[in-house]
Amino acid sequence: MSAAGQGRQTGLVVRGHGRHYLIEDHDGQRVHCLTRGKKSDCVVGDRVRWQRSSEHEGVIESVEPRRNLLFRQDEWKTKSFAANLDRLLILVAVEPQFSESQLTRALIAASSAGIEADIVLNKTDLPGADAARARLAPYTAMGQRVLELSLKGRPEASREVLMPLLDGQATLVLGPSGTGKSTLINLLVPDAKAQIGEISQALNSGRHTTTTTQWYWMDAARKNALIDSPGFQEFGLRQIAAPDLASYMLDFKPYLGECRFHNCSHRHEPGCAVLVAVEAGRISPSRYRIYDELWNELSSPPKY
Ligand code: GDP
Ligand code: ZN
Repeated sequence: MSAAGQGRQTGLVVRGHGRHYLIEDHDGQRVHCLTRGKKSDCVVGDRVRWQRSSEHEGVIESVEPRRNLLFRQDEWKTKSFAANLDRLLILVAVEPQFSESQLTRALIAASSAGIEADIVLNKTDLPGADAARARLAPYTAMGQRVLELSLKGRPEASREVLMPLLDGQATLVLGPSGTGKSTLINLLVPDAKAQIGEISQALNSGRHTTTTTQWYWMDAARKNALIDSPGFQEFGLRQIAAPDLASYMLDFKPYLGECRFHNCSHRHEPGCAVLVAVEAGRISPSRYRIYDELWNELSSPPKY
């Protein structure tokens, strides 16, 4: 152990549950840590300062400044769940059909946090692939990258599509259940089960293995990370002010400087360039509808 190892050191949060965290130190050693007091304010991906309290345990002293932070909406409150990400892979599939509203929420969350996001369409071996491509056409048209995979049908080709994106990155993968997220993780992290087992044992939380955010290393050199977050939970967008919403929508962006009023909400104002673009079919009606719904949601007081 280094001299610094005796005192305070930095570590990476690879798993959290309540006040219990698993911290990885510089050497890849994992230590079960608690936060001080009742606080549980760090998330997977956080860099923290921690101090050893016994051979196998430590205490988190502080959280280092974050590059970015993502939130999810639990029924009645907004909670952060992952930090310091380089990329978001939003996995959708030909089947089951994806929700455009959830997809848009994820893209807005990424954009407002300054995280690059890619849409990944899986199961392109299925007959409905063209219909799914058609539903994603507005996204490709606005410059959003959409990658195509067949994780089960052509795993090696799928890996080749993904690997260049993931190199040297911390990538959060999310997708509704049934889209192939486990297939993707098992393809890219061959020892995923072992990594989970090790973590559950350290945290003594076998029950919770699939219900919390989980950090995996894809390689022994610990350069490429995949972060698995369960479900396709509603992203917490409450931290976004309604007037900023349009700036996170790639298809709205070209028109934002052209509205008559600089504080245009793009909903009913005369001379609104966004509304003109919707009328002319340059912005898809489904995307506009989602914008309108989100505007109402963000400009009304929370329900709780
Ligand atoms: P998860 O719920 O998102 O973790 O999804 P899984 O990885 O468990 O996959 C759900 C189902 O889709 C499983 O039966 C997989 O075998 C299947 N699946 C995954 N990828 C593909 C694919 O590329 N093509 C087809 N046809 N099925 C796939
Ligand atoms: Zn406008």
